[in-house]
Amino acid sequence: MRIDIVTIFPQMLTGFFDAGVIGAARQAGLVQIHIHDLRDFTTDRHRQVDDRPYGGGPGMVLKPEPFFRAVESIKNQLSVAPRVILLSAQGKLFTQQIAKELAQERAIILLCGRYEGVDERVLHICTDELSIGDYVLSGGEAAAAVIAECVARLVPGVVGKQESIEHDSFYNERLLGPPQYTRPPEFRGLRVPEVLLTGDHQKIEEFRRRAALEKTLKNRPDLLTPLPPAPLPSEGEGGKG
Ligand code: SAM
Repeated sequence: MRIDIVTIFPQMLTGFFDAGVIGAARQAGLVQIHIHDLRDFTTDRHRQVDDRPYGGGPGMVLKPEPFFRAVESIKNQLSVAPRVILLSAQGKLFTQQIAKELAQERAIILLCGRYEGVDERVLHICTDELSIGDYVLSGGEAAAAVIAECVARLVPGVVGKQESIEHDSFYNERLLGPPQYTRPPEFRGLRVPEVLLTGDHQKIEEFRRRAALEKTLKNRPDLLTPLPPAPLPSEGEGGKG
């Protein structure tokens, strides 16, 4: 998988992708990450990427032309059609399900906004507009790091054992993962639950399932409420026959 990130602050991201699981995956050639400076796609002497908002108001808006040129230039290096994602507090909420879907892609381009945001016309070259949560960051770089890391770790081979991904929160169902413990068995009077030390796999599985449910009920009860039914197909959309 190839991930391209376009930002006015490339230095914010370079170190992040050099270390850990993603750093190792890059070295092993499983994931390619390219970070581009938006200013490299300007044509004026001052490398200007922003301008004042039409209609007035505070702050500056990132101009459309450098994003269009950046995406065209990256697409020219690809043999497949990429997903082009604008990071935006106004986007669809990024979830593990979307991460799974994106992990099937061969190429993803992430566009980072700054200041008051990005000229809306940039959405014409995007396939998606994604938000990482209902809050506002100063720029899309942290969001790009979140999405790139979350998607890359689902690429086969990136995390050593597929099993560890499948046991994570949110992977298969709307449930948080179970609590984890490691040695020592007792620390400052805090004991590891006895069942985890028994080696009885069935009992351990039951304990984990119950603990995961308890934790979900405590921290994210919203996940346990049933989803609304899927909308019925509208008239004319098949059905009769
Ligand atoms: N004026 C914008 C609004 O009301 O939605 C906020 C702009 S924000 C200060 C600057 C940039 O940070 C955005 O263009 C976007 O790229 C990024 N950003 C901020 N919050 C984000 C979020 N929750 N998810 C993804 N990107 C975000």
